[in-house]
Amino acid sequence: MSDFKVETKCLHSGYTPSKGEPCALPIYQSTTYKYDTTDEMGQLFDLKAEGYFYTRLQNPTNDAVAAKIADLEGGVAAILTSSGQAANFYAVFNICEAGDHVVAASTIYGGTFNLLAVTFKKLGIDCTFVDTDASPEEIAAAFRPNTKVLFAETIANPALVILDIEKFAKVAHEHEVPLIVDNTFATPVNCRPFEWGADIVTHSTTKYMDGHAVQVGGAIVDSGNFDWDAYGHKYHGLTEPDESYHGVIYTKQFGKKAYITKATSQLMRDLGSIPSPTNCFLLNLGLETLPLRVERHCYNAQKIAEFLNAHEKVSHVNYAGLPDDKYYALAQKYMNEGRTCGVISFELTGGREAAVRFMDSLKLATIATHVAASKTMILHPASHTHRQMNDEQLAEAGVSPGMIRLSVGIENVDDIIADIEQALQNA
Ligand SMILES: *Cc1c(COP(=O)(O)O)cnc(C)c1O
Repeated sequence: MSDFKVETKCLHSGYTPSKGEPCALPIYQSTTYKYDTTDEMGQLFDLKAEGYFYTRLQNPTNDAVAAKIADLEGGVAAILTSSGQAANFYAVFNICEAGDHVVAASTIYGGTFNLLAVTFKKLGIDCTFVDTDASPEEIAAAFRPNTKVLFAETIANPALVILDIEKFAKVAHEHEVPLIVDNTFATPVNCRPFEWGADIVTHSTTKYMDGHAVQVGGAIVDSGNFDWDAYGHKYHGLTEPDESYHGVIYTKQFGKKAYITKATSQLMRDLGSIPSPTNCFLLNLGLETLPLRVERHCYNAQKIAEFLNAHEKVSHVNYAGLPDDKYYALAQKYMNEGRTCGVISFELTGGREAAVRFMDSLKLATIATHVAASKTMILHPASHTHRQMNDEQLAEAGVSPGMIRLSVGIENVDDIIADIEQALQNA
């Protein structure tokens, strides 16, 4: 499938029915698979033969969708997880253990920030956060001899900071570690981080990939480009025998698929955050129309950002599609046709009270914590996600009391603008 364009891959990659087989991806809602001899199944347990034996490890529906996402990103292999949180946890934990260190961009999703800052710390893995806009020298200064990963998001949720992927990849590779990029907001339709030097990509498939807000899921894709053997002392989990799997050496036996095979046969075996086949089926339906939806999300968001930018009750708009946005140039460089995503944040001149009046006057946009779904959704961070913080703490977190986060849907843009317009009158 690799030569097709993204729109074609979204429909056809991962599943090719033969004569008389269903055109739609079947849901293999089965935990187990049948074998005829003791030895047949024994070979599977030894990773000596390929085949299905238990859905926690592999399932045909899940594998088809993983293969599609791997193809969309231009990677060699992928694994699906039960959430984006699980994907980021596995992606890092697959190559880190107690005593190791991670460097991460500070403007990442709050859940991932907590994962790295709090939960990983309990596991003995430390994290240093760096400003995403920092110079290569400043980022390099955060590295230690035991640093194993550099982590960032292509488009930060919700800060909408655009990552200079080449800058991060260069620093990572100079320090002989892989760059992991969470590509949830851009999706492979707008950006393929492997083309700019990232080594591993993660996704919360809960967002645009699904698009209909019906399943929570995650994915990890490996480019196959990072040479684990070259730094074998650092990544010994991949380059030395795995005693929990009869001494298999992942890089030797699985080559470019070593990283994903280890994530499956070790982490998924032990931690078990597998998505259900039915959720993977739903995700696949979302993927089929992803390019159409992303195009419309971005078209609508651009129009709305321009409308808000010109409105007297709005003091500031963050959207990298606006030529005066701080991240416009990076978006033009890294994103397909400069399109980023459908999420905008903006600031009302009237502050917190105006923001609450605005929110309560909306008729079409739904108040919800979700983003990146087909329907327009909106959130007031000071009242919702950052509710526990006072104004001073909000300022430190880069969230002002009058700030609104708008996830623009694929409704007719005139209807969304009319709704915002009437609510702004009440603000
Ligand atoms: C939502 C999100 C996550 C977490 O994903 P879940 O599917 O909610 O677990 C991780 N990274 C980014 C960028 C997200 O937007």
